[in-house]
Amino acid sequence: MNGDFQQVSEFLDYEDELLVVSHFSPDGDAIGSVLAFSGILDQIGIKYILGIDDTCPNKYSFLPGFELIRDLKKQPLGRRFERIAILDAGALPRIGVAREYIEDKTLVLNIDHHFTGPYYGDINLVNVQACATAEILYDLCNALGLEIDEKIAYGLYVGILSDTGRFRFSNTNERSFKICSEMVEKGVDPCWVTENVYFNLPVDSVRALAATLSSLELYFDGLVCLIALDSKYKHSDSEGFVEHASSVKGVALATFIREIEKDLYKVSLRSRCRIDVATVARKFGGGGHLKAAGFRHKGKIGELKKDLLRELGDQLERHKISKDIDFIKETVAEDLVNNVNV
Ligand code: 5GP
Ligand code: MN
Repeated sequence: MNGDFQQVSEFLDYEDELLVVSHFSPDGDAIGSVLAFSGILDQIGIKYILGIDDTCPNKYSFLPGFELIRDLKKQPLGRRFERIAILDAGALPRIGVAREYIEDKTLVLNIDHHFTGPYYGDINLVNVQACATAEILYDLCNALGLEIDEKIAYGLYVGILSDTGRFRFSNTNERSFKICSEMVEKGVDPCWVTENVYFNLPVDSVRALAATLSSLELYFDGLVCLIALDSKYKHSDSEGFVEHASSVKGVALATFIREIEKDLYKVSLRSRCRIDVATVARKFGGGGHLKAAGFRHKGKIGELKKDLLRELGDQLERHKISKDIDFIKETVAEDLVNNVNV
């Protein structure tokens, strides 16, 4: 952690309206963190606007405060802000149109758990050991001596649940369970959360999943699995689709290419071996974690696939990953020792 809670406390000593944002294609940690942070601001008594450059998937609408998150694409804010809090965004371009609300003198608070490069905030509360941004907000609540109410508890729980892949990824540790256990003690209903987020999908999303799965291709002796979805399914939520590619036996690297609009793609990468996909994503202008990373690409899908497969093939060779080694067992053991954050 580089910034400290005292700096955040000073940042929050503010009379005017604060803008709180997260990244586009928001996931459970982005949305949960924005809501938990708004709960913190409620308690301190600060006015705020919550915004994301995207429509938040409706499956999160059960979260207290969800209706306050503004879709900045559809409802732009015609002003700039003196102070802005950015949650769960490893790089500034990830907040999309919200960058327009920042000016030279804007004070930026960056709260995050990604390592992507130089920190962009004036205050950077960044902890790459945290399994989710929500975990850092839990520490912030305690440092500020705040009561964890229902809104904060649901936000923190969903953030951790989502970023640990439901307590499955290698960033899951004793602390993730402890915090979530405390949130259940504070009133979070885990069954209600899971029903809403994972088992109440619009049929369009399930159809999009079917189309994605039918696109499945394997490369390099089955070490790389690629799935894709075209923009026909523009409005369906595809969070977690990439996990289907990475759950295929023998797959070391998984890729999901989603066409957002014509010639604009969102690429998700997952690693089940010692290859760091954040490095791969950075080569394409993105970033992320060792085991889960991504980027956006403008151009033709043919070129993108060719370049990406070439890079993934090089990585397999460089790291000597072949189907003859038990890379999954090796990686799980190494990640446990190193407490790797996905
Ligand atoms: P997902 O594939 O689930 O969308 O993203 C996995 C991780 O990759 C995210 O937690 C985020 O850290 C990173 N990521 C995804 N897309 C981008 C991107 O366009 N730019 C950057 N810098 N990171 C990304
Ligand atoms: Mn996160």
